[in-house]
Amino acid sequence: MTGPSTQLLIDGALVPGGRGTFATVNPATEETLGQAADADGADLDRAVAAARNAFDSTDWCRDTALRVHCLRQLRDALGDEIEALREITIAEAGAPRMLTYGGQLQTPVDDLAFPADTAERYSWAVDLGVAAPLGITTRRTIVREPFGVVGAITPWNFPHQVSLAKIGPALAAGNTVVLKPAPDTPWCAAEVGRIIAEKTDFPPGVINIVTAADHRIGARLAEDARVDAVSFTGSTATGRSVMTAAAATIKKVFLELGGKSAFVVLDDADLGAACTAAARTVTTHAGQGCALTTRLVVPRERYGDAVDAVVAAMSAIPFGDPSDPKTLCGPLISARQRDRVQYYLDLAITEGGAFGCGGGRPGWADRGFYIEPTVIAGLTNDARAAREEIFGPVLVVLAHDGDSDAVRIANDSPYGLSGTVFGADEQRATRVAARLRAGTINVNGGMWYSADVPFGGYKQSGIGREMGLAGFEEYLETKVVATAVGTGRQR
Ligand code: NAD
Repeated sequence: MTGPSTQLLIDGALVPGGRGTFATVNPATEETLGQAADADGADLDRAVAAARNAFDSTDWCRDTALRVHCLRQLRDALGDEIEALREITIAEAGAPRMLTYGGQLQTPVDDLAFPADTAERYSWAVDLGVAAPLGITTRRTIVREPFGVVGAITPWNFPHQVSLAKIGPALAAGNTVVLKPAPDTPWCAAEVGRIIAEKTDFPPGVINIVTAADHRIGARLAEDARVDAVSFTGSTATGRSVMTAAAATIKKVFLELGGKSAFVVLDDADLGAACTAAARTVTTHAGQGCALTTRLVVPRERYGDAVDAVVAAMSAIPFGDPSDPKTLCGPLISARQRDRVQYYLDLAITEGGAFGCGGGRPGWADRGFYIEPTVIAGLTNDARAAREEIFGPVLVVLAHDGDSDAVRIANDSPYGLSGTVFGADEQRATRVAARLRAGTINVNGGMWYSADVPFGGYKQSGIGREMGLAGFEEYLETKVVATAVGTGRQR
């Protein structure tokens, strides 16, 4: 593959990185795909200055029609190049081809329509009418305004989904943006930057994209006093650092973090259907999804049957080359992530667990960062392998003693991102779902992911919501204008 853009997008121009370039690697083959622009601190400084200037000195934040036009142009331009973007996403992120027709690429591109449409019909000012609070006759108006400069920091696992679900609403709301993508997937972001520069009317500085090998570029963005809000998706540990860095200037922090979500199977559920769904979920993109359910919580009396059913389902998952249209479970992103997952697999055994299937690298893969779809049985929810985010195709099967116990186990987690309940009695399953402390719950296979649905976590899974109207309003300040009635000249 010849390399896509090796440039940064700063102040409307495609420019080389101050530190030259760094390699981007194909996780399925371990081969270097090519080079990406490597930003230094001076590049970031110019990007923030450009975003600041575009916000403070242009009409961008007031010109809703221009913003809507640019976002629709971007959606169309990305759509025009979708086949090239698909190949880059498969090669660089190890994303299974089938997922690029949905959440890995096509869906987030299409979903740019949502923030554009929302901005177009949004009530930017709401008149509360005249009242006399504290005895002063006043006309009250509530105005929604953008924050200013948004620093967006994103991970590698769903590079387009996370980036577009940030820049779409942030820009639609009238902010300007500096996007700092993950070092593992620089081309996915750089190509969006090139397309913005070449094919859209975004004014200079409104959107800047700064790829960098060094994580400290993200840290600098989070602490920069000229940045008004940080929108971060990544691990909970990094989210904590971002929050600390942002605290010095009390900037708005929006966090989408990790998860350890539970898939609860009630005693009346169709065990086969539930186990098939659980296996498909946890192996999607090799388990590298924050909201994937990674703990299967089944009735104790059906534990053995559940392990057998989920092992059979996991063993049948199409696993291997992500460019194969049948593959659901491809490689992990890097040797580091593969070693991290292997660490948790080894830990699970020392904690008393046993593999129903999988447990390490597949025999056929002497290259590529693959880990087999793995079922771990025999642990309780206090094991570290059951509590900590593994971020691989690894399912821990836990036993429950009835609905309340299942709820207790599901909620016994520092995280609260997502969850699933399967049961034949829908009302009972819905009652259990209501007791789960998590941001998105699927009942019997329902799909919560949609442009108009807010997504986010409870507890240490994050602060705030992405997507939907709530996700758009995350990027808005609230201002109240209170005008005394009868004192000024009325027109
Ligand atoms: P990560 O936290 O290592 O990195 C995320 C981003 O933060 C990268 O761009 C990285 O360069 C940057 N970064 C690293 N250190 C930083 C610092 N000190 N200050 C500022 N930025 C810094 O995460 P990852 O390994 O890229 O992604 C995997 C994690 O992301 C998982 O924990 C997963 O659950 C989480 N995730 C969450 C969601 C969600 O919506 N909740 C979505 C996708 C991924």
